[in-house]
Amino acid sequence: MTFNETDPVVTRFAPSPTGFLHIGGARTAMFNWLFARHHGGKALLRIEDTDKARSTQEAIDAILEGLDWLGLNWDDTPVFQSARAERHAAVAHELLAAGNAYKCFATPEELAAMREQQKAEKKPMRYDGRWRDRDPSEAPDGAPYVIRLKTQTSGKMTITDAVQGDVSVQNSEIDDFILLRSDGSPTYMLAVVVDDHDMGVTHLIRGDDHLNNAFRQLAMIQAMGWKEPVYAHIPLIHGNDGAKLSKRHGALGVEAYRDMGIMSDAMFNYLLRLGWGHGDDEFISRAQAISWFGLDGVGKSPSRFDTKKLQNLNGQYIREAQDSQLVGLTTPSIEQGLGRKLTLEDSELLGRAMPVLKSRAKNLLELANNSLFLYKKRPLDLDEKAQSLLDDPARQMLESIHANLAVLDNWTIEATEEAVKAIADAAELGLGKLAQPMRAALTGSTSSPGIFDVLILLGKEESLDRLLDQTK
Ligand code: GLU
Repeated sequence: MTFNETDPVVTRFAPSPTGFLHIGGARTAMFNWLFARHHGGKALLRIEDTDKARSTQEAIDAILEGLDWLGLNWDDTPVFQSARAERHAAVAHELLAAGNAYKCFATPEELAAMREQQKAEKKPMRYDGRWRDRDPSEAPDGAPYVIRLKTQTSGKMTITDAVQGDVSVQNSEIDDFILLRSDGSPTYMLAVVVDDHDMGVTHLIRGDDHLNNAFRQLAMIQAMGWKEPVYAHIPLIHGNDGAKLSKRHGALGVEAYRDMGIMSDAMFNYLLRLGWGHGDDEFISRAQAISWFGLDGVGKSPSRFDTKKLQNLNGQYIREAQDSQLVGLTTPSIEQGLGRKLTLEDSELLGRAMPVLKSRAKNLLELANNSLFLYKKRPLDLDEKAQSLLDDPARQMLESIHANLAVLDNWTIEATEEAVKAIADAAELGLGKLAQPMRAALTGSTSSPGIFDVLILLGKEESLDRLLDQTK
């Protein structure tokens, strides 16, 4: 029994909170979210915190924060798997009562010996079903037991995966795995199936490292007579060198990219395109993504994570972004850089500067950093490179430039350029030769927007004062 086309779509993202929200997890979350939003269904969040030793509150917070940053919101309240252990156990007992599961009293020593023997005989190491047909009364009184699923021993199981196509395994390869441990705690395999069923999940979109689990999970679903979900196992993300993504490739938590000044929209777009495509479209907005997303667009081979491409895309997003949005996004780091809050006037100045600032920045940190010159207090602290530009001839030149600019009535790009050009012409120098010392004096550094833009943004009085400061 499977879900019907007409059933409302329900997806879920089910992270284990043992670390930050890494790139692969973020992409899985996005695909689930997009699929549900595309179909007008529900996207649910389940925190798989059953491994108490490895799950931390810190990781839960990092995952929630990362999802929030990416703009992924979830329907209903998040489900915490650990809170549902009783329900998981109840299902195991239901399977037991129906004869689809059985008690296994094999001791750990016995099982270790069984595996040793299988190894010696070069047979696959799996539970051999030794308690499958035995009566529990054969076990010593009060002996601990686990509950195992009674799986099919012949035939094969086929999953029609929405990404991988038909994938089959022989049923004989699936052993009678454990549902409930001897301490009564549910295994991960049991918990996932019960939760997905109870949450009404229709589509399971997750990394293809879970494909093997899917057969076990399906065996349990069939034993319970529950509806089978549509499976979509997406290929993992690899590093630029083709090897499985690891920290070595710069695979960090999404919050690290936020802290590097990547825009959420750029990250979203980049991750979306990593393993999913819509023709040759590179720039895809969230609205387009929702309207276009489908599992048929998911590629079958692993995609490669390329930090450079992400940075380039981010630069494009910055250039396309609304100035007001960029003001909002850069204000916290500017304030941190300045050690004070921006006033309304400061923010307005930032807004005016944004068109020229954003044309050069690859990330939001750079953008914030490049705007600091607007707010520096005179006399400016020059960085080392800027200082080295201001030798005596340069300082004299600044004096002439100052004189020519001081008499201008019209403080415009054209007028200031003409005034500076007159000096360059007289000294038979290119404009660039003058621009660098001017930049050093006006911004305290050697990189900034175009020098005439800088003059306009700073205004006549502040520009003249900054130039004069460096002539002495
Ligand atoms: N909790 C699992 C993980 O983080 C995902 C399980 C699933 O999607 O079925 O890898």
